[in-house]
Amino acid sequence: MTCGNAFVEAEALDTQYVMHTFGDRKRALFVEGEGMVLRDADGKEYLDFLSGIGVVSVGHSHPALVAAVQGQAARLMHVSNHFHIEHRGPLAERLCGLLSQGNGDSWKVFFSNTGAESNEGAMKLARRYGRLHLDGAGGIITAKKSFHGRTLATLAATGQDAKQDPFAPLPAGFLHVEFNDIAALEAAVNSEIDGMAPVAVMLECIQGEAGVWPCTPEYLAAARALTAERGMLLIVDEVQTGMFRCGQPFAFQHFGITPDVVTMAKGIGGGFPMGAFAARGELADILAPGQHGSTFGGGPLACAASMAVLDVLCADGFAAHVQEMGEYLRGQLATLPFVTEVRGAGLMCGASLEAEVAPKMVEAGLEAGFVLNAPAANILRFLPPLVVEKTHINALIDALPAIYAQVQ
Ligand code: PLP
Repeated sequence: MTCGNAFVEAEALDTQYVMHTFGDRKRALFVEGEGMVLRDADGKEYLDFLSGIGVVSVGHSHPALVAAVQGQAARLMHVSNHFHIEHRGPLAERLCGLLSQGNGDSWKVFFSNTGAESNEGAMKLARRYGRLHLDGAGGIITAKKSFHGRTLATLAATGQDAKQDPFAPLPAGFLHVEFNDIAALEAAVNSEIDGMAPVAVMLECIQGEAGVWPCTPEYLAAARALTAERGMLLIVDEVQTGMFRCGQPFAFQHFGITPDVVTMAKGIGGGFPMGAFAARGELADILAPGQHGSTFGGGPLACAASMAVLDVLCADGFAAHVQEMGEYLRGQLATLPFVTEVRGAGLMCGASLEAEVAPKMVEAGLEAGFVLNAPAANILRFLPPLVVEKTHINALIDALPAIYAQVQ
């Protein structure tokens, strides 16, 4: 793929001055976006089926989000968490309202900046809970192939040796169990983890980075029952699945269970960096003053952005639109002869391919004007902006056979 001067210059400076932790970047320099469309420095347009890895929930440069960020930036950008902030309380109230759908519980949130930071906070809360209410229990059980972040503790929680090994020793007290294996989970909650009893199970309702692998309803129900029986906590990591991505405010609401702690990020700010974790009932008061904090978390800009995002996501019929488009996308993908399985919920969608060509399809897709993603050699993952329409999906489905043929 030939790229213009702006790309070449950007790549040269990036290579010289930016750490190479992301490997070679894709061959497009995006400079503008609108809804489903991204535009590169050469004026070429692309349909975005990744949305910045599930972040740009309301589409690129949504006018209401732009106005909220511009307006807030012009009024007040930052004052610190030593002070009340105009939109923070109303935003928390809205999030707690969404979390209580289907369970009627009371919730409280802590605002952070990223998914990893939200998970760190959730695990700190669990450890404090273990000290205070569960005889010092502190072990945290997570699933193999999970992804919970890149900080030391969230890396310890992430069930992938290849990501962990270069950074050993990681914080102790983590155990990884086979995903969707109830017997393994049962054994784990009865085990000792680095000399501690377990205090929490942390799961993604749908493993995203591993390739869109959903929990079975039985598995999540068992995780809920096993933790409840022992007074342990169930944490769900909704960093990728949450904020209407799966057609409900949070993916756990598909499964008919209520977790104790929920973490979120990505789509909550629609592109503005933001995260949060929430705890229900009395658990929300476990972290005492001074035990957790953030300079930037829940600041004026992030809260104003998130309020604008929620105005869009909570509009009548929007969740149904996400469900409908997700079903349509999965249905259309399933008709393609080279797709062997389609998984997911709402607009978090994974397609297994009969050949290990997904990374090459991402490159060819870009050339053809589609932003795609390959979490594994034989899996394509689709996380479009939630405002995607059938016409965009039809364009993708029309293009995929040629993209596949090109990489054979
Ligand atoms: N948890 C899950 C399920 C994720 O998908 C991710 C990121 O992809 C994270 C945590 C980490 O989020 P962040 O990159 O914002 O720290």
